[in-house]
Amino acid sequence: MTVVTRFAPSPTGRLHVGNIRTALHNFLFARKNGGEFLLRIDDTDRERSTAEFDQAIRDDLDWLGVTPDRIFRQSERFDLYEREFQRLRDGGWVYACYETPEELELRRKVLLGRGLPPVYERKPADAPVPEGRKPHWRFKLDHDAPIVFDDLIRGEQRFDPKLLSDPVVRREDGSWLYLLPSVIDDVDLGVTHVVRGEDHVSNSAAQTQMFVALGAAPPRFAHEALLVAAEGKLSKRLGSYGAEHLREEGVEPMALLSVLARIGTSQPVEPAASLDELARDFDFGHFGRAPAHFDPREVELINARLLHKMDYPAVADRLPLQASEEDWLLLRQNLGHLSDFGGWFEVLHGDIEPPELSHDERLVAKDAVTAAEPLDWSTEPWRALTDAVKASTGKKGRELFHPLRLALTGRESGPEMAGLVARMGKQRALDRLAAAAKR
Ligand code: GLU
Repeated sequence: MTVVTRFAPSPTGRLHVGNIRTALHNFLFARKNGGEFLLRIDDTDRERSTAEFDQAIRDDLDWLGVTPDRIFRQSERFDLYEREFQRLRDGGWVYACYETPEELELRRKVLLGRGLPPVYERKPADAPVPEGRKPHWRFKLDHDAPIVFDDLIRGEQRFDPKLLSDPVVRREDGSWLYLLPSVIDDVDLGVTHVVRGEDHVSNSAAQTQMFVALGAAPPRFAHEALLVAAEGKLSKRLGSYGAEHLREEGVEPMALLSVLARIGTSQPVEPAASLDELARDFDFGHFGRAPAHFDPREVELINARLLHKMDYPAVADRLPLQASEEDWLLLRQNLGHLSDFGGWFEVLHGDIEPPELSHDERLVAKDAVTAAEPLDWSTEPWRALTDAVKASTGKKGRELFHPLRLALTGRESGPEMAGLVARMGKQRALDRLAAAAKR
C-alpha cells in the first residue's frame, strides 16, 4: 500500500503555525513512508474563499519546502460530489429534512431542558413535507454499527452512533458542507491516512460511516492535540504567526519546521537541516495527548543554533557574492538571523561607523596603533597586539579588550576577536585603531 496523506486548508485566510504544523506532519509521514502528500484546497465556500489566499497557501508551503506532490481544488470537483450524492440518496444513506434553524434550536433546548442529549430526531418517512420549503440533506448514521477506530495518536476511539446527530451534508441551496465532499475526495484520491487536529474527532466518527456507505474502507486517522501559545491558548498574535511573518523576520524555514515537528512529542526539539532529517524519525507514537506549546522564542533559538552549524554550501547563494567559506565559518557562530551576516561581512571587509571611545579608551587605541605597526599579521596578530598593548598600558581584562573590540569592529560584542582581526587584515585594523584614537 502506498501511503497517501493530504493537507486540506480552506483558502479563507493565510496559513498560521497551527495549520503549518498539520501540513508538515502530513508531509513528513508521507515522506518517511515513500508515499504521496496531496494539497486539497477546500474552497466549497465560494463566498469566503479567495484566489489570493489559495495562491498564498501554495507560496507559503513552497517557501517552507513542504511542497505537495499533487494539488486539487474542491470547487473543480462538484460533478463528482453530485454523482456520489445521488448514489447515497438512492441507497437511502442521505435523506431530505425540512426543519428551519429556529425549529432545530427550539427542539435542542427542549431536549437539554429534559436532561436528554440534544441529538437530532429523525422524522418518520411518511411525515408531511411542509409546503414551500426546500430540503436540506442529512447523512443517515447506521445506529446498529458501533463506531470504533484506532487513532494513531489517541488510541481506540468509540462512539455510539445513536448519540450523534445525523450530520447535515448539503444545504437548501445545493451547496456542500465540508463533511461529505471530504470523504468523497479521500476515497477518490486514495488517501490512506487522515492527519488533522483533534477538533475533528467527532467528524471522523460520522465520516467513518460515510466511507462505508461509499463502499470504501475508512483511512487511518491521526488526530493531533491542538497547538497553544506557551502562555495560554493560541492567541490572536499566533493566529497571524505564519510564513509571511517569518519571512519578514528572516527566520529560516527549517527553524520553524524543526520546532513544529517536535513540540507536543516526547522527542526533544533540535535544529534539523532538512525535511528528510525530520522525516527519518517521525512517528505518531511519539505524540502526546496534551496540547503542544508553541513559543516563538524557541523558534528564534533554534534559528540561531541552525545557523551556527550550517555548512557553507547550504547558504552560499544567499551570502554577498564575495563572501568566502572562511568568512562564513568565522561569522556563523554569532548570527541570530542570516540577515545579520551582511553587517559582520562589512566588519571584515568593508567600512564601519567609527565608535565613540572614552578618554581612557582612546589612549588604549592610540597605544594599539603603535603596537600594531611592526606586527607580522600572518601569525596570531590578536595575541601579539593584546600582549603588546597590555605591556605598554598596564591594562588587562575588560579595560584592555573592550576598547580594542570597539575600535576594531565598532561593536560591543561579537565573534572571537582572534579570527576577526586576522581576517580583516593589517591595514584595515590599523586604520580603525587610528580613527578610534582620534575621536
Ligand atoms: N478544510 C478542513 C479544515 O480546514 C479540512 C479538515 C480535514 O483535514 O479533513 O478544517
